[in-house]
Amino acid sequence: MISLDELRRNLQSVRERMAAAAQRSGRPAEAVRLLAVTKTQPTECVQLARQAGLRLFGENRVQEAGAKYGPLLNGKRAEGQGSSAEPEVELHLIGHLQRNKARQAAGLFACVQSIDKLQTAEALACACREAARDIDVLLELNTSEEPGKFGFTADSDLLEAVTPIRELGCLKIRGLMTVGPLSDDAARVGRAFARLRALHERIAAELPGFDVLSMGMSGDFEIAIEEGATMVRLGTVLFGPRA
Ligand SMILES: *Cc1c(COP(=O)(O)O)cnc(C)c1O
Repeated sequence: MISLDELRRNLQSVRERMAAAAQRSGRPAEAVRLLAVTKTQPTECVQLARQAGLRLFGENRVQEAGAKYGPLLNGKRAEGQGSSAEPEVELHLIGHLQRNKARQAAGLFACVQSIDKLQTAEALACACREAARDIDVLLELNTSEEPGKFGFTADSDLLEAVTPIRELGCLKIRGLMTVGPLSDDAARVGRAFARLRALHERIAAELPGFDVLSMGMSGDFEIAIEEGATMVRLGTVLFGPRA
């Protein structure tokens, strides 16, 4: 596992690269949030990340997230907000949500970034209603044009899902998410992100609070920021390669 010193160095370099990319897009560094992806990393890694000042985390599997963050988040709720010395942790689901995990997800995540069809949203909304909890969601678009990846495939399908998802209640649609194409062709990656941004602008014009554009991973986050990302999801550049 990575050391705290190493993590701090990685974080500093990542923040500098993020700030430079934000500047190239005409925005201040604060316009882009960094979500630290801790999937496959041990719980101790989360502790180090918090020591290094990180507060926003992402996991791609509900069960793994529950094992790693459940005690932390439940303890926090029991103590009540603001009374604990440790600052708040905000956890997002970034991987596919199976319907039979909706209940656990409703209790863990501040945001589910991976709403890929109406049925996923329905299952989550139902679980949130039972738990008397509201939750933020992002709609995921498959911009990679690779079959087998999750997300809405057509812009029109995603657009058509917005109103029915809003009508479910409990879910607040905050924006869009994508995993870009895995490609060395920067122009192709840029086009995928530009497509998400254009779709985002269309919806944002009619939906207040629709202000999150989650795109960019270790290999392509600078391109994503240049194309307008407000959140990048980074694992490898922070914590090193996954086992
Ligand atoms: C794993 C993962 C990331 C982080 O990937 P890195 O390349 O390690 O930065 C980001 N987003 C999603 C959806 C992921 O599954």
